[in-house]
Amino acid sequence: MNKLPFVTKEQIEGIVKTYPTPFHIYDEHGIRENVKALKEAFSWNKGYKEFFAVKATPNPFLINILREYGCGCDCSSYTELMLSGAMGVQGEDIMFSSNNTPAQEFVLAQKLGAVINLDDITHIDYLEKALGCLPKTISCRFNPGGYFSLGTDIMDNPGDAKYGFTESQMFEGFRLLKEKGVERFGIHAFLASNTVTNEYYPTLARQLFELAVRLEKETGAKIAFINLSGGIGIPYRPEQEPNDIRVIGREVHRAYQEILEPAGMGDVAIYTELGRFMMGPYGHLVTQAIHLKHTYKEYVGVDACAVDLMRPAMYGAYHHITVLGKEDEPCGCLYDVTGSLCENNDKFAIDRKLPQVDIGDYLVIHDTGAHGYAMGYNYNGKLKSAELLLKEDGSVQLIRRAETPMDYFATFDCFDIYEKLAAMDGLEKEGDGERTQKGRVQ
Ligand SMILES: *Cc1c(COP(=O)(O)O)cnc(C)c1O
Repeated sequence: MNKLPFVTKEQIEGIVKTYPTPFHIYDEHGIRENVKALKEAFSWNKGYKEFFAVKATPNPFLINILREYGCGCDCSSYTELMLSGAMGVQGEDIMFSSNNTPAQEFVLAQKLGAVINLDDITHIDYLEKALGCLPKTISCRFNPGGYFSLGTDIMDNPGDAKYGFTESQMFEGFRLLKEKGVERFGIHAFLASNTVTNEYYPTLARQLFELAVRLEKETGAKIAFINLSGGIGIPYRPEQEPNDIRVIGREVHRAYQEILEPAGMGDVAIYTELGRFMMGPYGHLVTQAIHLKHTYKEYVGVDACAVDLMRPAMYGAYHHITVLGKEDEPCGCLYDVTGSLCENNDKFAIDRKLPQVDIGDYLVIHDTGAHGYAMGYNYNGKLKSAELLLKEDGSVQLIRRAETPMDYFATFDCFDIYEKLAAMDGLEKEGDGERTQKGRVQ
C-alpha cells in the first residue's frame, strides 16, 4: 500500500515561513474521525470510556480534542496528573495507572479524585499509609505471567514484565481491599504492545472476563469495570494491514455476552487506555534535508535528530518516510537518513529506498503522533522541536513552541553561569538578522 502523508509539499512550504523545521504536526481531522470510530465500536457498552494515555502525546490541545468525545486521561506520573488537573480533568475521568509509584503521586491522584490502579499487592499498605485511608474504588493490574500468544504467535512476554499482580495475588488483594472497606473494583491488564491484529483485545478480554467472574464469585468483590488498557497498534509499515476497530469492538462484545452476561455481570463497564492508536498515525515529524554525504554509504542529513523521535534509535523501529513532492517518483536510491547527534544510532532509517533526495527537500517521517515528541530528550544539548496542529479548516496552530537555549539551561537559573548563558543566547543572530535556531518563533 502506498502510505501518503496528510500534508503536501505546498502546505509545508507555506507553514515553514512561520514555523521552521523540524516540527511535529498533527492532523485534527484524522484524530476526530478515529476517536468517533472507537466510540462507535464500543457503543454497545453503557459505561465504556477511553482514558487517553497521556504519556503518548502529553499536549493539552490534542487531549482537549479527545475530551470533546468524552475521553478521560490515563496518567502515569506526577506531572501527567498535574497536566490533567490543570486541564480540568478530574475525578473518575482520570485513571492513575502507574508502577513503582512514589507516595506523593498517590497523594496528588487522590486529591484529584482519580481512580487508582494498583500495580502491586504491597501497594495496598503503602497507599493506605500515604493517604491515611483507602479510596472506595480501586483497580488492580493483573499479570498472568508466561507468554501471551494469539494462536501460535507469541505476542509478548508478560512473565518477564515488571508490572502487575500474579493471579493468586489478585484474589488475595481483592479480599484484603474488601476487608479494608473498598466497595468498587476494577481489573486492568496490558499484555502486549503495538499489536497489529484484531485479535489482541478480544483474547485479552476473554482472559479478564473469566478472571472477573471467578474473582467476584470467590471474593464477593463488586467488579465495576474492566480496563483493557493500551496495546492496539498501528501499521508503521506500508505493507501492514491496519486494525479494524469495529471488528475489535464486536469481538469484545461477543466475549462479554458469552462470559460476563451469563454470570450476571452485564453492568460491567469496559475501559481502554489507548495511546498509540489514538494519535500515532495523526502525527508527522517534518524535517529538511540539509546535507548529502557520500562515503561508504549514502547519507541524507536532516535537521531533526533522535531527540525529536527516539523510536528508531531505541527500538530499531520502522518509520515510513516520504520525500515531499516526490511521492510518485521511483524509490531508486538507498540511503541512511541521519540526525546530527554524536551517536551512530541517530538514524531515522537505514538502507531505505527513497527517491533521489536533494538538499532542501522536506521529508515527512510518518506515525510520530504517539511516543514521538513525548520520548524526546536533550542529549548533545539538542533542543526539542515545536508541535503544530493542522486544523480541520486547513489553518495551522502552534500548540507547543520549540525549546530555546534558555529552556535547556533553565535549571542553572540559581547559579552565576545563568547570566553569562543568557548573554550568549542570540549571539549568532547579531548583525545579519538571520536566525538559525531550530524552530524558534520570531
Ligand atoms: C503506555 C501505556 C498505555 C498506552 O499504550 P499504547 O501502546 O500507546 O496504546 C496504556 N496504559 C498504560 C498503563 C501504559 O503504560
